[in-house]
Amino acid sequence: VSHSPASTIYALSTIPPTSNQASAIGVIRLAGPASLEALAALAPPSSPPPKPNLFTVRTLSDPASKLPLDSPGILYFQAPRSYTGTDVLELHCHGSPAVIAGVLGTLSSLPYLRPADRGEFTSLAFENGKLSLLDVESLGSLLSAVTSTQRDLALSSSSLSTALYTEYAKTLLSCLATAEAIVDFSDDSESDTTLHTTPWAATIPKVESLLSSMRSHLSTRSAARLIEDGLTVSLYGRPNVGKSSLMNALSSAQTSIVSPIPGTTRDAVRAQVEIAGVKCTVVDTAGMREEAGDEIEERGIEVARREVEGSDVRVRVVCVGEDLSTGAEMEGEPDLTVCNKIDLGSAPPDYNLGVSAETGAGMREFMEKLGEIVKSRVGAGRASEGGESVLVARARHANHVKEAAGCLERFLDRVEEGAVSDDLAAEELRRANTEIARIMGKVDVEQVLDVLFRDFCIGK
Ligand code: GDP
Ligand code: ZN
Repeated sequence: VSHSPASTIYALSTIPPTSNQASAIGVIRLAGPASLEALAALAPPSSPPPKPNLFTVRTLSDPASKLPLDSPGILYFQAPRSYTGTDVLELHCHGSPAVIAGVLGTLSSLPYLRPADRGEFTSLAFENGKLSLLDVESLGSLLSAVTSTQRDLALSSSSLSTALYTEYAKTLLSCLATAEAIVDFSDDSESDTTLHTTPWAATIPKVESLLSSMRSHLSTRSAARLIEDGLTVSLYGRPNVGKSSLMNALSSAQTSIVSPIPGTTRDAVRAQVEIAGVKCTVVDTAGMREEAGDEIEERGIEVARREVEGSDVRVRVVCVGEDLSTGAEMEGEPDLTVCNKIDLGSAPPDYNLGVSAETGAGMREFMEKLGEIVKSRVGAGRASEGGESVLVARARHANHVKEAAGCLERFLDRVEEGAVSDDLAAEELRRANTEIARIMGKVDVEQVLDVLFRDFCIGK
């Protein structure tokens, strides 16, 4: 059997081990027609080829030196019933640096193998029709998901988006069929201006309803973006009320310096915290000082003010026995006011939520309250008339849906004017159709893939 030299790829699919850190198992993956040939070169001459979908153990050694490499568990998936659609071998090796380096080194010496590029296994799966473009995109999101809402969005987006965009395409195709008939007809006949409004009568309501569906779908982009990028939650208030202490309690990582000297936190300090399953950046702003003496301090206050105003959730912090002579008040209503240091006395009646960063009292309620606010922010963009709607999972999808909606708007304008040719109106429908086809990867897929696979790791 002869192989083109580059058609079988291999890569370590787990994190490369170092002398400090290694996992128990390291998985090396091979994909392509020479996968079994590579295994045969490393396994004992008498050993039978592996059976598909069964886990077997083989002792592997270097064909040149005959020195043993490892005894990995081996999984074989036979083409086309594999992730990539080609033959796939997984070598579940011991995870130490020496074992992994040894096996990879030996594989690199085989002339019919080459190391895989970033995302090349998935790219093969796409080429062989195992995954759609939307599948690949949501897989990319799943692999980078940190919070539970990011994971949920990634897991559901491929099937939900595919269903929705397929529906769009179907509606557009039926409108297009009518449009092409109208265009043919108006070519054949003498141009009769009274005909211009009537032939589109059945198409107009269809396009209107599709357009309104697209608009409501587009309005979910903000919710998806909040899930992706997260919200900022700012803590603000007078110096020494315990903002930094509260932030530390929230993030439990000591990212902020807590000190008894007022105004230690000169610049905003940030911490990543998952609140209600949503990625949040908690910002501990510098204390607002009214009697800002020097210019640098004044600038700091301005920065803090802008930080608070630009954040998604504003938490005002006051404390028991607060020194009202220091610091300036912030304009605008906070989303939540907490009174810290309730271990020193009772919270004043106008502050509903009493907490103590010191003893942890009230912190659970604080977290819950924050969770409610965060969920309502994400939920607001998510709910539509008919309940939960399909979120626009990616900016790329939003762009194409926006373009398609623009085409439909122009179509409706042109048909209503009745002044332009039927062909120009039909052209808008054709364009809208192309935009939806772009989302699904049916048109111009190459550039999308180039960008997409840049975010994938090697071995995936
Ligand atoms: P910030 O200037 O608002 O960031 O305040 P810090 O977090 O730096 O805290 C100022 C001082 O108040 C420090 O000495 C903290 O130890 C103390 N502190 C913070 N939270 C509490 C609390 O809940 N109870 C008590 N008794 N002291 C606190
Ligand atoms: Zn502070």
